[in-house]
Amino acid sequence: MGSRVPPRSSLHDKDAMRSIPGWFAKKVARGLAVVALTWSPLVLTGTGCGPTEDASEQEAPLDTRAHSFTPMAPSGDFTAQVTRYEYEFATQTGAAKSTLLMDVYPPGGDCFVVKAPQGLTEVHWNGNPPLRSESVEDGIRVCGPGLFAGQVKLEARFTVPLQTYDFTQVGFSRRTDKAGNTFSYLLNWVEGCDRFGPCDDRTDQLAQYVFTIKHAQNERVVCPGQRTRPDNTTTKCTLTGLTKAPTYSSFAVASNPAWVPSTFTEVSNKFKLVFYEVPGGKLAASLNANDVKAYLHWIIGELGPLPYGTELRVAGAPTEWLGVEHPANLILREDLPDLRRDYANMTMHTLMHEVVHQWAGNRTTLSRPFDFVWKEAIAEYLTYLYELRARPSGEAEQTRAYWDRLARTAAYYPQPQDDPPPVFLSLASDVYGTGPMILFLQLEPLLGQDAVLRGIKGFLSQPGDRSVDDLRAALEQASGKNLGPYFDAWVHGAGDPDWPYFEVSTEEDDGDVTLTALQRSVSGTHYPVAVDVLLEGATQSKLVTLDYGLEPESDTLHVTVPFPEPVLQVTVDPENRVVNRRFLGVSDEPPPPRWLF
Ligand SMILES: [Zn+2]
Repeated sequence: MGSRVPPRSSLHDKDAMRSIPGWFAKKVARGLAVVALTWSPLVLTGTGCGPTEDASEQEAPLDTRAHSFTPMAPSGDFTAQVTRYEYEFATQTGAAKSTLLMDVYPPGGDCFVVKAPQGLTEVHWNGNPPLRSESVEDGIRVCGPGLFAGQVKLEARFTVPLQTYDFTQVGFSRRTDKAGNTFSYLLNWVEGCDRFGPCDDRTDQLAQYVFTIKHAQNERVVCPGQRTRPDNTTTKCTLTGLTKAPTYSSFAVASNPAWVPSTFTEVSNKFKLVFYEVPGGKLAASLNANDVKAYLHWIIGELGPLPYGTELRVAGAPTEWLGVEHPANLILREDLPDLRRDYANMTMHTLMHEVVHQWAGNRTTLSRPFDFVWKEAIAEYLTYLYELRARPSGEAEQTRAYWDRLARTAAYYPQPQDDPPPVFLSLASDVYGTGPMILFLQLEPLLGQDAVLRGIKGFLSQPGDRSVDDLRAALEQASGKNLGPYFDAWVHGAGDPDWPYFEVSTEEDDGDVTLTALQRSVSGTHYPVAVDVLLEGATQSKLVTLDYGLEPESDTLHVTVPFPEPVLQVTVDPENRVVNRRFLGVSDEPPPPRWLF
């Protein structure tokens, strides 16, 4: 075990980096091959926690180091995976107790570094006070008896302050809902769970959870997983089945004394959708139960059984975001039916979107924070596909029009390479148009809609963490096409997105029209794309597709079609299927409102 390579995710772990000497951390950053040769022996020897061997050992040739292992109790920071969080939380006081069950990887060690807030108390290591603990940047190092591998239970208490962060509701807050009741919300988000206690906030980590919530007798509490109410002041949620969940969505506890649970639609052994709303709540009232039932049948048919049990709770609340996708537990904004209709049916669209996240985001999750775009793109695109196939005409069209406007006015590429990177929240609210259009809608004419859907289903078919590159690979596998140039042109980039402008001219000749299209962009990129153009005459119109293909070598394209009358009007992308500039040069188009959900 002395030469075992740690799992892939830990190679990028900042916490793990802290456990090794600075000079070596730089080498880790330079190349993984170095890690494969020397990681394990150094974890054993070079740390601040246990006895440190002399420096000459660290500078020895690689082959000497590889044999430096001796079967004594290992010391130093170990790499571990948190397999379960048991979190006790009191809604009235914010008092919390975190219990982390961890699998320790060989070669082991005697200390663990984990992110945590300042102010932990009653820290315990396998039930006993730790041999040593100290604050480190953004967290805590806790040390106990050394072990090569196995399990460690870390416990700590913390009082979560009534405080929110980054101009969002993330944090712990109380708000009055429209009916005058107090809504309490412990809300986590990407890389934030260490605000509530010790927590490994890496996005690619999936774990089990047990929430034990203490509350007032009249308080109705929802939390992720299977929900029970052992007594009048305790609500318990367990997420301990085979399907694990990420921290970003799982640390979530919401309560309202006036919520009344009401089963909205149910098919035994398949799904049971239960609304938690206050009397007079508008969400369930604005939805049709048969429509919701039909949608749940469809999405379960496409993606498989609901990942966290058949019960799906939907609570209405005074939130800023339109909705959030906690496992088995959705929180929707209480006034969705009253908001401006950027989507034709805000309530149904948001509900469908959050349901998709049970698979896309929760069961299968983000490798890195900047993979955020794929989870929103899939939630939006599958919602759109259902609107297209089964909802009243006009819904899908309006969704496309809103996406297109969001995308044209986006500030970033879907997976930006800006240095320094954009503020995460700014990027997150920026991807709801570019994501679904560039990753899926725009690929429909190039790959076929069936191949796009097959790619998504393949991508989501196994639990685990996935990146934007993994999505490209899944779409390539489903279509048999090389998407490298497409992703290079559309997905990755720095600075203001350089979307193409299509200059189209026509020439009439004996009953035919020849269209000449010129792609123009600042960079001169040849965008792989198929864009529709609508030709209109006095009595006829015709939709013509300009197909540049997936690896265009020219910015110019000629297409000749029969069209027996003078062309009066040419409209590029009349159905909002392609991200393209509407004006050449600096666009003065104002961005639309951007929702997070
Ligand atoms: Zn979403």
